[in-house]
Amino acid sequence: MERKQILYKSTRSSTTVTSSQAILTGLGKDGGLFVPEEFPQFDFSFSEMAGFTYQELAFRVMRLLLTDFTDDELKYCIEGAYDSKFDTEKIAPLVNKDGAWYLELFHGTTIAFKDMALSILPYLMTTAAKKNHEERKIVILTATSGDTGKAAMAGFEDVPGTEIIVFYPKDGVSAIQEKQMVTQRGDNTHVIAIRGNFDDAQSAVKKIFNDPEMNRILSENGYCFSSANSINVGRLVPQIVYYVYAYAELLRNGGIREGEQINITVPTGNFGNILAAYYAKLMGLPVRRLICASNENKVLYDFFSSGDYDRNRKFILTTSPSMDILISSNLERLIYRICGDDSDACRDLMEQLSRGGEYRITSEMREKLSDFRGGFATEEENFEGIRKLYKRTGYVIDTHTGIANAVWRAYAEETGDETPVVIASTASPYKFARSVIGAIAPEELAGKDDFELMDLLGRLSGVREPGAVTDIRTAPVRHTAVADPAEMPSAVLRALGIGGEA
Ligand SMILES: *Cc1c(COP(=O)(O)O)cnc(C)c1O
Repeated sequence: MERKQILYKSTRSSTTVTSSQAILTGLGKDGGLFVPEEFPQFDFSFSEMAGFTYQELAFRVMRLLLTDFTDDELKYCIEGAYDSKFDTEKIAPLVNKDGAWYLELFHGTTIAFKDMALSILPYLMTTAAKKNHEERKIVILTATSGDTGKAAMAGFEDVPGTEIIVFYPKDGVSAIQEKQMVTQRGDNTHVIAIRGNFDDAQSAVKKIFNDPEMNRILSENGYCFSSANSINVGRLVPQIVYYVYAYAELLRNGGIREGEQINITVPTGNFGNILAAYYAKLMGLPVRRLICASNENKVLYDFFSSGDYDRNRKFILTTSPSMDILISSNLERLIYRICGDDSDACRDLMEQLSRGGEYRITSEMREKLSDFRGGFATEEENFEGIRKLYKRTGYVIDTHTGIANAVWRAYAEETGDETPVVIASTASPYKFARSVIGAIAPEELAGKDDFELMDLLGRLSGVREPGAVTDIRTAPVRHTAVADPAEMPSAVLRALGIGGEA
């Protein structure tokens, strides 16, 4: 099967690279993100689509975008990633509850949707390193709002030729999330808690990436940086697959007819997951609306309703911590597209954002956002929605999926839109057991520790405890470092054993 070569261009300059180079470097040297120069169209029919397994579909979608990987290389990556690490052969089951289709993206090693991409990224990255004759050891530097860090470490644990360093906000993740991270195994994993929030950690990581001095020191010691954050093309492309898979499942189970449009609702933080759904649409998936659901940190909702992106506001800690984000990095890719692939205009807006925390798009750009709809839910609306769904169906969703659930139900009521909807279900309720029990059985909370709450959740939901939870019940703590954001560069060098006394 012939493939058209797709190159990747930075959103901030005219630099172009191959897909494997984009995966290897993560971020452009100019600070921009890599985007495909054009969007290839799916080269399979709906009836073929309906016949594919998850792995076959992943292969057919990914080969269109990662065009300098050979078919054999892609098959090796896909087979290594989507195997029995997932607790279901379907990899991403689609379940219908109370009028919506929940796409369960949490059946991997760390029970959050990040596993979908991070289980394949190490394969893509080490393959990309070989293809580009990169001899240096790859250092994955990651800021996490809770789920990425653990999923990335699980993916890269003891992968030869790699080290992984994860920074998380000390008071900004759930108890289970923190326990998952500090118990991480592997000789190449490093975890550091930051006195600050996610945006502080993410900004510092970006600065380290672009710091010539840090890059020089690393290179002299035989290392180079890469990123496992959702800005990496190697994260984005595997995420396109499960939206196509959801469509295939709907065809298989009669939920839709061939070619019928669907809506997709995504609980959004860094804008990576919903961007993948948008890219699926650009490649030919029949999608009507992309509904971007925010929690009380509703920067994106305000952006979609006013055209004004303004991060100058109070950072709110919510019960959906993986969405507590004021700078949604992947939005830059959408901005680039709606300003007509104009890297100068895009860079200018991003510079305004980093200088003053704000930018406004033109009315011409706003018109190109008609595929999107922003919405947000408060803590009360989220809990109320989780409780109602549980009362009606017995189905328990987590607090991130809960935001999407509440936003979609309010949207459907307001607009009367009856298009079939796929809701991205991004975490197992076990991962946020305390909040979830607070929604469905608040009278049971008092006096119970997190593990007792998970026992209770098992009884109430009838869903067996995932292996990931059982594991951390007894795993020893291996990581205890804490640092200020300003100390992150020296923490990186220390983790790599470079540099001695500072
Ligand atoms: C990361 C995450 C999100 C947000 O996804 P983005 O791609 O950053 O928008 C939502 N829910 C959960 C559970 C997550 O881990």
